[in-house]
Amino acid sequence: MNWQSDTNASETSEALTHFAPTLERWYDHHRRDLPWRHTTDPYRIWLSEIILQQTRVAQGMPYYLRFVEAYPTLSDLALADEQALLRLWQGLGYYSRARNLHQTAKYIHSELNGLFPTTYLALLALKGIGTYTAAAVASFAYGERVPVVDGNVYRVLARVFGVDEDIMSTGAKKTFAALAARLMAHAVDPATYNQAIMEFGAIQCTPVAPDCLICPVQQQCVACQTGRQRELPVKKKKAAVRDRFFHYLVFCTQHNGEAVVAMHERTGRDIWQNLHEFYLIETDEPKADFRDLDLDKPLNDLVEQGVLTTSPVASNQLLSHQRIKAFFYRIDLPESVKNDLPEGYSWYTRQQISHLPKPVLIADYFEKGLG
Ligand code: SF4
Repeated sequence: MNWQSDTNASETSEALTHFAPTLERWYDHHRRDLPWRHTTDPYRIWLSEIILQQTRVAQGMPYYLRFVEAYPTLSDLALADEQALLRLWQGLGYYSRARNLHQTAKYIHSELNGLFPTTYLALLALKGIGTYTAAAVASFAYGERVPVVDGNVYRVLARVFGVDEDIMSTGAKKTFAALAARLMAHAVDPATYNQAIMEFGAIQCTPVAPDCLICPVQQQCVACQTGRQRELPVKKKKAAVRDRFFHYLVFCTQHNGEAVVAMHERTGRDIWQNLHEFYLIETDEPKADFRDLDLDKPLNDLVEQGVLTTSPVASNQLLSHQRIKAFFYRIDLPESVKNDLPEGYSWYTRQQISHLPKPVLIADYFEKGLG
């Protein structure tokens, strides 16, 4: 069966007609009880969808609960302090999501009188809201008949309807969106159907071990009937992961009898924008020794006035297309040179640092009691 060809047209048409109602019935019996499923508040639905992008439910849940406690309404989020918001987001990664969330909340609050847009197209016009999130909010909050299409949906549709187009190709989005729209037309309730297909992809038709034996669409599923579950969806190889080597100079000293550490806020278009970190020297390859780092003269002069902990602490963090290998060199400076820090750096106490948003590997460094 191929849903786009005329072969076995009646069989295909029947499969297309029954698919959505079948999944809706399945969802009634198998849905997980998740907090964002108890609301039609577009703000909370939007918040949950942004948190859950690139994040598993188990990991995203505590963040969602913390966010709705700290910012129960859209106005609360709009008026939030960005540093506090980023601090709450710490550990979820993809920090541009948090910044867009904040900017969009501010925009709705000030430009739209705090009224959340009520249609798919109006939602799509907002910063940080793509087709998937717009469809989720429009259907869950307002019942609009617009299908969600994400990785879970690609997988389920590719398997059930035997779509072997590379899901990374430019045409795939159009193909799957067209199929999703045809299926949505037969849904009893758009919100339930969208929830159902996402849940089905998350717990039934999973990437590695789909539970075909007890699947409600087993008879019509092309992948199951032809033993191609592992081949579908077709996905070309991932882009290569780039290695980056971060050498952090952790300057420490005393101020009024209290230990302080030098940090600055990251700017620019790189990863971890607006998060705080130590003095960074980045290299394209690993360096065996601190002396191999290329320090400019003022920095070298500063380092020479301190005591360097000879062996660095190493830590790794894997991002979507980057592998960060970080090395931390602690340098204890005498209090007399505490005004000689490079431009943009300031001294922070441990208490202050605990409130700053930081990359996970820097937060871990403090967790281990090294800073
Ligand atoms: S039969 Fe298997 S591959 Fe097909 S939809 Fe069901 S779980 Fe997925």
